[in-house]
Amino acid sequence: MSKVNLLDFDLDGLAAYCEGLGEKRFRATQLFRWIHQRGAADFGAMTDLAKALRDKLGGVAEVRPLPVAAEQVSADGTIKWLFDVGAGNAVETVFIPEDDRGTLCVSSQAGCAVGCRFCSTGHQGFSRNLSTGEILAQLWYAEHRLRERFALSAGERVISNVVMMGMGEPLQNYSALVPALRAMLDDHGYGLSRRRVTVSTSGVVPMIDRLREDCPVAMAVSLHAPNDGLRDELVPLNRKYPLHELLEACKRYLQKAPRDFITFEYCMLDGVNDTEAHAQELLALVNGRGEHHVPCKLNLIPFNPFPSSGLTRSPRATVLAFAKVLQDAGVVTTIRKTRGDDIDAACGQLAGEVQDRTRAGERMKRVPVPVVAAGRSS
Ligand code: SAH
Ligand code: SF4
Repeated sequence: MSKVNLLDFDLDGLAAYCEGLGEKRFRATQLFRWIHQRGAADFGAMTDLAKALRDKLGGVAEVRPLPVAAEQVSADGTIKWLFDVGAGNAVETVFIPEDDRGTLCVSSQAGCAVGCRFCSTGHQGFSRNLSTGEILAQLWYAEHRLRERFALSAGERVISNVVMMGMGEPLQNYSALVPALRAMLDDHGYGLSRRRVTVSTSGVVPMIDRLREDCPVAMAVSLHAPNDGLRDELVPLNRKYPLHELLEACKRYLQKAPRDFITFEYCMLDGVNDTEAHAQELLALVNGRGEHHVPCKLNLIPFNPFPSSGLTRSPRATVLAFAKVLQDAGVVTTIRKTRGDDIDAACGQLAGEVQDRTRAGERMKRVPVPVVAAGRSS
């Protein structure tokens, strides 16, 4: 029988598991701290736990890391790991160092079922959800590997932010996501601030509502288009949850969110969604024409091309002109710096290796990418 993976639990889950072994909650807290704060995987090293408990745990449980298939370091300091999740599937995790923070970009699924046109993960189709343990194993490994690499002492941290922006749609793996988020936030775990843990979603409306109640963290919504016609083509989930429903869910989310704005992500695709007319339409959308006003920041992402996308990156001048329309109207708009492109670690380039159980790749090839002429965006 395979052993229980202790990375699968948030603290409450671990406490319930330990109770089943006849142990009090404070033992679970000690264990949780050993695992997540000290990076211990060997029960023998957990010296303040009774020998009898360590032996008992050794028989039934383990801290199961993900095997690292590759590590690549970019010239700009970005580090990408490829983790083997079995059965021919692999997922990627990226560490992005900046002056004032260190961000870990974490994957939630092997592949993705949403199938966005401009996303390498989406082109691969969906294989399976990651477990809580597999989501947390990415942070667990990166945290302790980086501490070692930078020779940090116990209290020092390099990862200050986590973004669920790796492979997969986190809100389509909700039940595994939430305990993972809780372990990230827990003071006995990684102790990250709610404002520094971001869930990025293509817009799974019912799950945005659930997350607001269960574990509100910072929220990024992948918008990419200012109207339903274009968004239906770029982000197929829009056909199920169209823009007005999505924006209403964003407004509801803000009632409990740790930040008072939603980050809208908008991938700039040459000739597809990047004209000034699109910018005007986007402005009207987020300003709500009265009804859907959502306090937001806009993050423009230069498209990161990958073979077979058939799309190209908007020229810099186009991106700047687009940004200016929004900035002039008072919408805080930033242009994302592309990091780690020499190691294919930039947004949307995470490919890992996925056994496509949905044959999404073939479907994509049959459907031409829509190119919308300037000004005719619906
Ligand atoms: N599934 C979630 C989170 C993972 S994708 C989501 O879609 O939000 C993280 C971000 O990268 C999203 O905003 C996504 O739209 C963007 N992205 C995907 N492919 C991209 C590409 N090729 N170039 C730039 N950004 C891309
Ligand atoms: Fe999935 Fe996000 Fe990629 Fe869309 S952009 S296919 S939702 S990972």
